[in-house]
Amino acid sequence: MQISYLECTRCGERLSPDHPQSVCPKDGGVLFVRYDLASLKGKLRVDDLRGRVASMWRYAEVLPDAAPVTLGEGFTPMLPSREFASVYIKDEGLNPTGSFKARGMSAAVTMARHYGLKKLAAPSAGNAGGALAAYAAAAEIEAHIFMPKDVPLANRMECDYYGAHLTLVDGLISDCGRMVAERKDKEGWFDVSTLKEPFRVEGKKTMGYEVAEQLGWKLPDAIIYPTGGGVGMIGMWKAFEEMEELGWIGSGVPGSAGQGSKRPKMISVQAAGCAPIVRACEAGKSASEMWADASTFAAGLRVPKAYGDYLILDIIKKSGGTAVSATDEEILLATRHWANVEGVFAAPEGAASLVAYQKLRASRFLRAEDVVVLFNTGSAYKYLDVLEAQEKRARTATPATRQIGGIIGPY
Ligand SMILES: [Zn+2]
Repeated sequence: MQISYLECTRCGERLSPDHPQSVCPKDGGVLFVRYDLASLKGKLRVDDLRGRVASMWRYAEVLPDAAPVTLGEGFTPMLPSREFASVYIKDEGLNPTGSFKARGMSAAVTMARHYGLKKLAAPSAGNAGGALAAYAAAAEIEAHIFMPKDVPLANRMECDYYGAHLTLVDGLISDCGRMVAERKDKEGWFDVSTLKEPFRVEGKKTMGYEVAEQLGWKLPDAIIYPTGGGVGMIGMWKAFEEMEELGWIGSGVPGSAGQGSKRPKMISVQAAGCAPIVRACEAGKSASEMWADASTFAAGLRVPKAYGDYLILDIIKKSGGTAVSATDEEILLATRHWANVEGVFAAPEGAASLVAYQKLRASRFLRAEDVVVLFNTGSAYKYLDVLEAQEKRARTATPATRQIGGIIGPY
C-alpha cells in the first residue's frame, strides 16, 4: 500500500517516505511506517487472504507498495505443542536463511532497491547479517556486514557464499554498529541496522498478522519472544494495532466489537549473561542500561543495549507482560528437550522461550489453560558448531555449576 508518512515513535514528527530515511533527525527516535488504514477498513477483509501466496507478502496491503525482493519468507508453521495442550510453537527456523531475520531483510532490501540504493551496511549478531547477504544478493545490491568474530560458523560462511563483504570484529554487536556508523558516510553505505531504517519492522510485523491468522483471528493470551534487538516484539505490537484499525481483531476496549479483543501479554526472554531488558523491567525503568561483559552462546541474544529498548519496555508494560532470563545451561537443556519432545531443532535463542514458559508456569504468572505462542526464532542447523562446543563445556562443568534453577520437567 502507498505509505502515508513515516512517524517518529518519540516525538510524532512526520517524515516523507519519498526518499530513504533513517531515524528521527530531531531526537533519534525509531520511525514507524504509517498507511491510510482507515480507507482500507471494510474493504479488505480477512477472507480476502484465502488462497494468497504463503509468504509474508500475502499481507501486501499493509506492506510498502514496491516490487518485493522475496525468497519465500514468512507464513511459517504454527505447531501445537505435544507437551503442553495450550501452547503453540511458531517455527521461524523454516524461513530462508533459517531465521526470522529474513522477514525484516526482505522488506528492507525491497525498499532499498525501490529507492535505488546500491550499498547497504549492517552490524549483526549473526543471523541478520546472513539474511541481509542473501537478500542483497537477490537484489544485486552490495552488502557490508560487521559481525563479532565468534559468531556461529554458518553466519560467516553464508555471508561469504552470498557474496557479501564481511568484517569480523573483536567485540560485540555494539562495537560492530559503531564501525558501521563511523564508515558509512565515507563509503556511501546506507545503514540498515536494527531500527535505524523503518522497514525491517514492517517485515517482522507480519509475524503478528500470522499469529492472528493461524489462530483463527483470535490472539493468544501471551507471546514469549526471545529478545536481542527486540524488533520482533515491536513489529508484532504494531501489527496488533493495525489489525485493530482494520477491524480484523477487537480494539482491546472492553465491550467493543470483534473477536479476541485482548492483546496478548508480551513476554521477553533474554540470556542471563546479557539481560538488559529484564533488568530494566524489574527496576520499572523506561530504558535499559548497556550490559557490561555480555556473554551467552545464544548469539542473537548478545545485544548489550537495544536501540528500541524504550519501545520494548513500553510494550511489555502496556501488555501486562514481563521479562525473564535463561542461563546458557537452561537454554542448552531446553534445546535438546524441544528437539526430543517436539521434533523441533530450535536455535538456542528460540529454546530460551521454553525456559521462560516453564519458569512462568512455575511462578503461576501463566496458567496451564493460557494460550501461549512460543517463538522459535531460528534453526539449530545454523548453530551446530556452537551447540557442540556448549555440550562439551556442559559435560566438563563441575557439579556446582550444573545446578539448574527453576526448571521443571524431565531432563
Ligand atoms: Zn522524533
